[in-house]
Formats: sequence, structure tokens, C-alpha cells
Amino acid sequence: MAVEGRACMLTEPGAPAVVEDVTVGSPGPGEVMVRLAASGVCHTDLTVKVLNGNGMKFPIVLGHEGAGYIEEVGEGVTHLQKGDPVVIAYRAPCDQCPACRRGDPRHCYMALRPQPRITRKSTGETCSQVLRCGTFATHTVVHSKAAIKMPKEMPLDKACLIACGVVTGVGATMNTVKVWPGASVAVVGCGGVGLSVIQGARIAHAKQIIAVDVNPVKLEWARKYGATDVVDARNGDPVDAVRNLVKDPWPGYEGGVDFAFEATGRMQCIEQCVRMVNYNGTAVTIGFPASTDEVTLNVGNIDTGVYWNKVNLAVSHCGDALPSHDFPLLAQLYLQGRLDLDGMVTRTIGLDDVEAAFHEMETGNVIRSVITF
Ligand SMILES: [Zn+2]
Ligand SMILES: [Zn+2]
Repeated sequence: MAVEGRACMLTEPGAPAVVEDVTVGSPGPGEVMVRLAASGVCHTDLTVKVLNGNGMKFPIVLGHEGAGYIEEVGEGVTHLQKGDPVVIAYRAPCDQCPACRRGDPRHCYMALRPQPRITRKSTGETCSQVLRCGTFATHTVVHSKAAIKMPKEMPLDKACLIACGVVTGVGATMNTVKVWPGASVAVVGCGGVGLSVIQGARIAHAKQIIAVDVNPVKLEWARKYGATDVVDARNGDPVDAVRNLVKDPWPGYEGGVDFAFEATGRMQCIEQCVRMVNYNGTAVTIGFPASTDEVTLNVGNIDTGVYWNKVNLAVSHCGDALPSHDFPLLAQLYLQGRLDLDGMVTRTIGLDDVEAAFHEMETGNVIRSVITF
């Protein structure tokens, strides 16, 4: 049954996000309606606004880091029922592409999408939903395979963080590469994703985790989440600093880390990560680039060049997550006290405060603002 609700949306390019009355239609076959309990405000929502929709059709309901309760299930949905607590994944593997067919759903080429079900009450226009989610809304409709059931004891205002920032960071250390016990790790950029990389490396029993940022507050956070060393990148070349911090048992051998993660979206940081790793080490790039972004990599330097240092470069697409497996695992790690989500919610806000949260994201020290409904 269709429900009346409210949603925070972009109505036209350049306009601020506004909350409007909406009608959310019944879920179709294979879809579910979710009544939102909480939604994290992710940098990607701000990016959609700044890039004037980033190719999506207006009006656009924002939000893709949501958790809530199943309100209604569509035809053919048997694995969920009304009242189930779920986290919404922005990507559910399709079962049909070449990667899925060969049993590698983490590298699915596409994602299952619902029909657009949210309409603007004032004009009747159908809304786009950011990343097939649209979680800055009292209700949304998503593909049933994108609604991942949570344990009953999992608080949803923390669970929502799993959907994007946390799975991206932790997943980079578990799925994109596999950080081994005793590994040395550098993390460049200590926002929500970088802090999650640090937590992933800590959970994997890395022996040394070196956090790099230009903001001393974020470096303090990094220590709290498991960094063993911190480097303030404002004070000289962070590559030298990281290499000097790595304790290496081989006399005369230039130190470096086994894994260096870039969590900034800045090209300079990818170059730094490539130069930070040791022989056969892996640099992992996570942040979204702009379409014109390029990097310059030295190949021939005897210590840090891509050839002589045998550098691997891995790309992490949002932690290469398989939500049906990874979301319950991360919830379990939280419930066991091994993954800290409580501290990552720096502010709880209402649906009407999204613009203020965007502003704070650009100017303040915020890990995550979470909207609660
Ligand atoms: Zn697929
Ligand atoms: Zn996100």
C-alpha cells in the first residue's frame, strides 16, 4: 500500500536540499518498502549536489547509508517480512553478468535496481534515488536483495554506517587486499573511510598502522581507532616520514609498508601511497576521482619506482563488498566489541538538518552525522 512520507531531495541543479512531502508507492515484484530508522550523511550525497545531480534526473532523493524496518514486501519476496530490521545496500549483485556467472559476485558489473517508487506530492514528478537507495526519506523502496537483515540486537542508528563508509574502509582491508597478521599498513586520509581502514587493519592484526592526515584532530581519532603511529603531512614529505617509521630488520634495505591505502580521492595521495610501499607492496586507491584526474608514477627509481620496487596498485570499489555476507559480519564484529561504530557517529540530526550537515562536512571535524527518524 502506498504511504505518505517526507524526503530530503534536490529539486533542481544548484538548489539546496529541501524536505518535501512524498508518496511512496507499494513495492513491485522482488522489491521491499523500508521504513527508515536512521541514515548516515555520506560525502557522496554532497558530491551529487555539487556535481548538479552527477547525471541523475531531478528531482533526486538523497541518501544511501540507511537502516530501517521492512514495511511491506513485494510479490515473490520470501526471505524478508514486515518488521525485519535491515541495512540497505546500494549494490546487490545481479546473478547474470559474467562475474556473477563465474561465481564472483563481489565484482558484479551492475546492480539490481528497483522501479522508482517515490513521487513528489506537490508536482507528481517521479524522483530518482541516489545509488538506487534514497534513504533521506521516511520510507523508500529498494530491491529485496539490497535489504540485508540485521540481528535484532543491532542498533540501527549504528548499523546504517555499515552500508557505505564502514564497509568501504574495512572491506578494502578484507576483500580488495587481504591484510595479514603482522602486516605494516599506512592509511592516507583519516575521515570516516580512512578510520574504517584503520579499524580493518587492526581487526586483521596488522602490527603497525601508520595514519597520515593534515588535520591533527583526525590524527587523534586515528590513534583511538588503532593507529600505532601518526604522521602530520603538513610537516614535510609524508612518504619519507612513513618509510622512516617502518622498522625493517634488513640492514641497508629501504623501509616501506606492506599496504598503503589512499582514502582521500586526491591524486597526490595515490602517488604517495605508491612510493610508501615496500618491495612487492600494494597501494590501494579508494576515493572517487574526477573524470579528468591523472597520476604520474615513477617507474625506475631504485627504492620507490614501480618497476624496481615491484609495486602493485589495487582499486577498491567501496570495499568490493558482498553485502549479504559482509553486512552481517560487520554487525557481528560490532556486537562483539571489535568494531567501534559508536564513536563514529559524531552527531545525530533530523531530516531537516541535511544542509547544515553538508556544511559541517566541508568545514568541521565530523566523522558522520546520522539522521534519525
Ligand atoms: Zn553481476
Ligand atoms: Zn557513501
